[in-house]
Amino acid sequence: MIRLLASLGLILALSSCQTDSDRSGDAGPALTAAAVSTQNANDSRVAKTLFGGVALPSAQPSQAVGFYSRGCQAGAEQLPETGPTWQAMRLSRNRNWGQPVLVDYLQDLSRFAATQPGWAGLYIGDMAQPRGGPMLTGHASHQVGLDADIWMLPPARLDLTREERENLSSIRTDRNSGAYINSAWTPQHMAIMRQAASDPRVDRIFVFAGAKVAMCNAATGDRSWLRKIRPWYGHNYHFHVRLSCPPGDGACETQDPIPPGDGCAAAQEWVNNIINPPPPDPNYVAPPPRPELTMARLPAQCLDVLNSN
Ligand SMILES: [Zn+2]
Repeated sequence: MIRLLASLGLILALSSCQTDSDRSGDAGPALTAAAVSTQNANDSRVAKTLFGGVALPSAQPSQAVGFYSRGCQAGAEQLPETGPTWQAMRLSRNRNWGQPVLVDYLQDLSRFAATQPGWAGLYIGDMAQPRGGPMLTGHASHQVGLDADIWMLPPARLDLTREERENLSSIRTDRNSGAYINSAWTPQHMAIMRQAASDPRVDRIFVFAGAKVAMCNAATGDRSWLRKIRPWYGHNYHFHVRLSCPPGDGACETQDPIPPGDGCAAAQEWVNNIINPPPPDPNYVAPPPRPELTMARLPAQCLDVLNSN
């Protein structure tokens, strides 16, 4: 599996965050029987077109609905475009929406980041659409308001104009296709990721394999936080934080637990496969393209979210 993924990674590494659902991709838990029974199984409308066209959140109690790569969000909250220790980037995308727990988490993490030398706070990339759901461009996940991308670029200032936030680019922190960190990586990146992963609200964090190995090698003292740092393709210009389902959110589907241990040996193996790719599997058959997510394939509740005021 790792061998196959490693060779695929050469292609996918270019596509940034589009493949960041951590091997689960579309393999989220099956819809519950209850959900299916109330769903219109013939609703073949393309979900990304509908959710991608809604400008405001639903006036409903906050809820993450479904799985990270197959769901939506009710009652989302907007991360203010600028705060004392953060700025939301690429405002034209209107993706600075999330569940209240995500907005709180990002503000807390940005306050920590602002204590780091060279960091005025955080530049926050994509979170989710106002009602979540699949997007017209990019991202298999980011559908339920619990995922966020955080730029690797240390913010020098937090008074960027809207236009600057469209045009400024993040920086890459890897070399050799994700096998190693480069000279743009700093101890502050590690301190921020350690803080990010130590927060009990976090389920897992995605970053390129070379960064995980570098942190495995540099970590001293408590290493338990490393477990939540997961190697994945891309994630060299940003890292991706995924929160756990909020307590009491019965519509939110949890992801399979991370294997025990710090995951450092697996990350090293991933790196080894980048540096020295195994021969291609002669029996490899490319998987069929992932079918478009229709409304019928989303949890039934997402239709209510879409139609709500
Ligand atoms: Zn992401």
